[in-house]
Amino acid sequence: MSGDDLTFEEMMAMTGVRSYDGSKGPAPSKPPPPPSGPTAAPAPPPRPAPALPSAALTAARAEVASLTTQLAAARNDVAAAEARATTAEGHTEEAEERIRVLVAERDGVDRKRRSLSDELTETRTQLLAVTASSGLEATLRERGLGSRDEDIEALLGLLDVRADQLIEAIELASPDQFAALLDERVALVCGRDSCLPDGPTASVTVQARRCEICGGSDIRAAFATFADACASKGVKNVVVVGGSPAYRKQLGALADAHPDLRMDLVLGTVRRPTHKAEADMRRADVVVIWGATLLDHSISENYKAGTGKARLMTVRDRGITRMLSAVRRYVAG
Ligand SMILES: [Zn+2]
Repeated sequence: MSGDDLTFEEMMAMTGVRSYDGSKGPAPSKPPPPPSGPTAAPAPPPRPAPALPSAALTAARAEVASLTTQLAAARNDVAAAEARATTAEGHTEEAEERIRVLVAERDGVDRKRRSLSDELTETRTQLLAVTASSGLEATLRERGLGSRDEDIEALLGLLDVRADQLIEAIELASPDQFAALLDERVALVCGRDSCLPDGPTASVTVQARRCEICGGSDIRAAFATFADACASKGVKNVVVVGGSPAYRKQLGALADAHPDLRMDLVLGTVRRPTHKAEADMRRADVVVIWGATLLDHSISENYKAGTGKARLMTVRDRGITRMLSAVRRYVAG
């Protein structure tokens, strides 16, 4: 039972308030007279319960009105809260739907991103293929040649039938590398057997004066002249850094015939540790840095004048006889 289902009188009764009836009940009492004298006065008649004063009644009415107003406001609040709850429920459904849409969009973006990533990978692969295709080997592969043996067969065949076109068509990716290969593995020699290189070296037959071994003269005689010059100047140990395998082979054979002169032949294509280069400079009387392209700078730079007693010289001339002649003049000078 809520308060507003009661009448005002019922509510008052519940709180012990009765309605006031002017015809019943005692009249408003007066305060009892003070006791007079020592003799006991007669007991006053029992007083009826005093009625609520009018002011209290007014206050109670006001309080009821206030409570009623507050109750109505509370009901409004409840209705508003219920309305908000309904609205919120609707909002929740909207939010859930929005989330579903966003998740779907995100999944779509993820798929697109994966797709783009795959495309990028594919493009990179193609780019690498294009870059590689600028090389000779890749071009041969594109033509259908499947192995190095087939490459060689095709190139040798082209050299046989269309050498000029082949040479003009090939552009070097690394001229330095090719130049080093020419120095190391190609020998320009005269027709004499003693000048022919052995091992994996291509020999090109030229006129005797262009022979890189003998230069058209008696190489043994040339070496003998060189050895004599060294002996007369007290040069007993010569280190030669660089030179092709064909050169080193010939020099080694020539030096064998002159046991008084020690010739050490150092590869110009393999890095010589600094401590070994310094040992060469201490041991030798002359160190010859021989060659321009074959000799790697990282090797020659380890030889520094003043490291030991050896004198350091550089020879750019190709050919054994030219080198021997240059060293001979240096020693004699
Ligand atoms: Zn020769």
